Amino acid sequence: MNTRTGTITLIGAGLTGPLLAIGLVKRGFRVEIYERRPDMRRVRVSAGRSINLALSTRGIHALSEAGLWSEMREIIIPMKGRMMHSVRSELTFQRYGKDETEVINSISRADLNIALMNAAEAQGVKIRFQQRCMGMDLKAGTVQLRDEQTGENHALAATVVIACDGSASAIRGEMLKLNRFNVSQQYLEYGYKELTIPAGPGGRHVLEMNALHIWPRGNYMLIALPNVDGTFACILFLPFEGPDSFAQLITQEAAGEFFSTRFPDAVSLMPDLADNFFSNPTGAMVTIKCSPWHAEGRTLLLGDAAHAIVPFFGQGINCGFEDCTCLLELLDRRGADWPRVFSEFEQTRKINTDAIADLAVENFVEMRDRVADPRFLFRKKVELALESKYPQVFVPKYAMVTFHRIPYATALRRGMMQDKMLTELCDGIERVEDLDWTKADQLIRAALTPLELVS
Ligand SMILES: Cc1cc2nc3c(=O)[nH]c(=O)nc-3n(C[C@H](O)[C@H](O)[C@H](O)COP(=O)(O)OP(=O)(O)OC[C@H]3O[C@@H](n4cnc5c(N)ncnc54)[C@H](O)[C@@H]3O)c2cc1C
Repeated sequence: MNTRTGTITLIGAGLTGPLLAIGLVKRGFRVEIYERRPDMRRVRVSAGRSINLALSTRGIHALSEAGLWSEMREIIIPMKGRMMHSVRSELTFQRYGKDETEVINSISRADLNIALMNAAEAQGVKIRFQQRCMGMDLKAGTVQLRDEQTGENHALAATVVIACDGSASAIRGEMLKLNRFNVSQQYLEYGYKELTIPAGPGGRHVLEMNALHIWPRGNYMLIALPNVDGTFACILFLPFEGPDSFAQLITQEAAGEFFSTRFPDAVSLMPDLADNFFSNPTGAMVTIKCSPWHAEGRTLLLGDAAHAIVPFFGQGINCGFEDCTCLLELLDRRGADWPRVFSEFEQTRKINTDAIADLAVENFVEMRDRVADPRFLFRKKVELALESKYPQVFVPKYAMVTFHRIPYATALRRGMMQDKMLTELCDGIERVEDLDWTKADQLIRAALTPLELVS
């Protein structure tokens, strides 16, 4: 089936939709996107939807392929490591990578979304706003849409539909009605709330600008990512219920007392804290795994619609953008044989998206708790020492996920083996100089083969 002359219908002009559209247009397809929200370039983004994202190698690769990364440089801030804030306001810095080239990049979701939509439209993609997908007849290929302005429903006959409509995907909801559709959704017992640290005098950053700030407090944490306008976008991750929880913070006094005792140095930088806290919504976080991702050879789920993950490895959009890279590569190889392309896409991707979903949940404990532990920081130093002695063989798990395009499933598998080695090698020592290199050599040679590093 060659539909190169037909129009490809995308649902959702969030982050993956416009990027995928650009790749498809470059390959000669016509693309239309249906988005339920108004155009955010004309209507102000609602408060509480302004989170920042950490873009890393997989996302950067996909943006570079679309010819967009160089212009993004204007709207990102590189973060070289984590700056931990203790309850006594002491600071500890821990870099992310082996050197200054291994950084993650803070970008506002809205700025990224706008840049992607502008670029897609410049390539001829038509984005139709305030068009909510209400469902789809998967067999006939008819998408049901509602015009959010007029309230009118209409049907669209589509040849190929790619659902980029995020974690609450309407198209996935439709697939759920099929026989033998598998889906699991696992909510965290934690919610998140967006807060802001305003810019200082002259628009300067009031905290170290090139770092991701973390206030790890065992069972919960606050993080802050820098913006180009001098502000920091903060997120509080807190249990919904229990002693220190959103359920307890229902009065100004309770919230004020909680923040000033747990995050004293942050509170002094947040003059609008109470206002932000009580007016911004509390978000939920979910892991969704499902299969199949495609139906009737014409409809595919992509990005969060296929695999929503929790945000603690900073990989949600990096993974979604890697989906775009992978799908476009398959199209280049197979041509517009959609049933085959969609099926191979799921076969190659799902094992990896399942792996990053598990890694992301695991990383929550690391961020909110372990980063405050001196033994954990020591293990990180040992990891870097092993990496510099065995480059391409012992690559820290964080680096495999963040700074390379090694399949996530490989990163998960090798990461587990390396964790065991680290436990053995760090046992009983407190200085990197005391590392038993003979033992390290034996362990590494016995278990790890050299990696093919693509970044
Ligand atoms: C608190 C938080 C922090 C995060 N931090 C990071 C990070 O640091 N790094 C990272 O890589 N990822 C991060 N993520 C994840 C990232 O935001 C998502 O993975 C990414 O946005 C998914 O892109 P998407 O295009 O699949 O979906 P979305 O970006 O959610 O886009 C979906 C689009 O579809 C539209 N839509 C939905 N339903 C319909 C419908 N029925 N009809 C028409 N349109 C519809 C929506 O309006 C939206 O525009 C974070 C997420 C959260 C919640």
